[in-house]
Amino acid sequence: RGVDVDLVVVGSGFFGLTVAERVAAEHGRKVLVIDRREHIGGNAYSEVDAETGIEVHRYGAHLFHTSNERVWEYANRFTEFTGYVHRVYTTHRGEVFPMPINLGTINQFFRSAYTPDQARALVREQAAELGGRTPENLDEQGVNLIGRPLYEAFIRDYTAKQWQTDPRELPASIISRLPVRYTYDNRYFNDTHEGLPVDGYTAWIERMADHPNIEVRLGTDFFDESQPVNKANVVGNVPVLYTGPVDRYFDNAEGDLSWRTLDFEREVLPVGDFQGTTVMNYPDADVPYTRIHEFRHFHPERDYVKDKTVIMREFSRFAERGDEPYYPINTATDRERLLAYRELAKGEKDVLFGGRLGTYQYLDMHMAIGAALSMVDNKLTPHFEGGAGLA
Ligand code: FAD
Ligand code: UDP
Repeated sequence: RGVDVDLVVVGSGFFGLTVAERVAAEHGRKVLVIDRREHIGGNAYSEVDAETGIEVHRYGAHLFHTSNERVWEYANRFTEFTGYVHRVYTTHRGEVFPMPINLGTINQFFRSAYTPDQARALVREQAAELGGRTPENLDEQGVNLIGRPLYEAFIRDYTAKQWQTDPRELPASIISRLPVRYTYDNRYFNDTHEGLPVDGYTAWIERMADHPNIEVRLGTDFFDESQPVNKANVVGNVPVLYTGPVDRYFDNAEGDLSWRTLDFEREVLPVGDFQGTTVMNYPDADVPYTRIHEFRHFHPERDYVKDKTVIMREFSRFAERGDEPYYPINTATDRERLLAYRELAKGEKDVLFGGRLGTYQYLDMHMAIGAALSMVDNKLTPHFEGGAGLA
């Protein structure tokens, strides 16, 4: 055996670390975690901005929320959570509205004082242009959910900027999960539990990896044969959990899966408060970015500097090879290719594929943790405790 451990985990995001932690702590097995980045935690990684001392989420704002009791209990073993509740605002034609679309948004937009029933009736009337047809694309779904005026103001151009695709070409499902509320409730998430890790994401993540049975090697790419733990010498010899991009694992043999990436533009401003809230969306077509994050507001309980603030503008585009893959685009071609990769994956002896990249699926953190715990239950526990095969 080239590597003297019981499991190699490729990728130290929440999926990989959850599996590593369980196998190390519950099954007492030795786990080697490798990551090609210079830090652990995958996209949930956060760091302290050197100039302001404010915690910044390097790969985009991360909000933890879940209704899964098992995931909530598990997460609480490694961190406490603040009482942060996520709320989003949106600036349309120089005016700020609450998101997601709720009675406050509707009444402000129509300069009215509709009751919930009146607002419902109005939207129903405006959505009637579909004539009762099932929405076939995002554009029709938007009109169906909220009527054309609200759709065009808050959704159409935002979505076009975010996906760089005409909303008539996008699946309706993308915004099916966007809540529309006929109350003044403007909480972004509906989950039972919500909050931010009290001492930051990186502290949480580091506690998960802090176990004598876990070794972490950073700056280590699984496909780099010049380092000792790589695909060529590990697969077939040691069980592997792979959480990198599934197409890359098979040398893109079935074609590239398409992803959206984000560009983040970080700026420190000489003011104590730039926008008064964590996230401001920009739904208008003439603003090139989709939203601005202001990180100090994620932790109002902290004693941050009062004369500086750090903001991040978010721009969205198609990912090229070499860009960070963030959101699966999921075209019909992608779905065909994914099926082909799944077939190939079945043939890989003792290699499990997991996580956002390994399954080409958008996963929130709680979903990544939940899916990892299920993989431990269904595959790794039977393997380590009962000698069952892995694949
Ligand atoms: P990742 O975190 O992507 O980890 C995969 C790891 O594998 C990476 O560290 C990568 O470097 C490593 N890797 C890849 N290839 C190789 C290789 N060849 N060799 C070695 N290592 C490799 N979730 C929420 O719950 N709330 C949010 O608000 C939220 N916001 C998000 C915003 C953005 C912009 C993005 C992209 C995601 C967001 N998420 C959010 C999702 C969250 O980031 C994921 O749930 C989480 O990252 C999933 O973890 P993972 O382990 O599957 O993948
Ligand atoms: N969306 C929109 N306007 C907004 C916010 C969201 O049109 O102000 C749409 C958009 O199509 C987006 C989808 O709703 O892709 C999901 O939004 P969410 O904020 O959940 O996306 P994420 O934070 O994952 O980028």
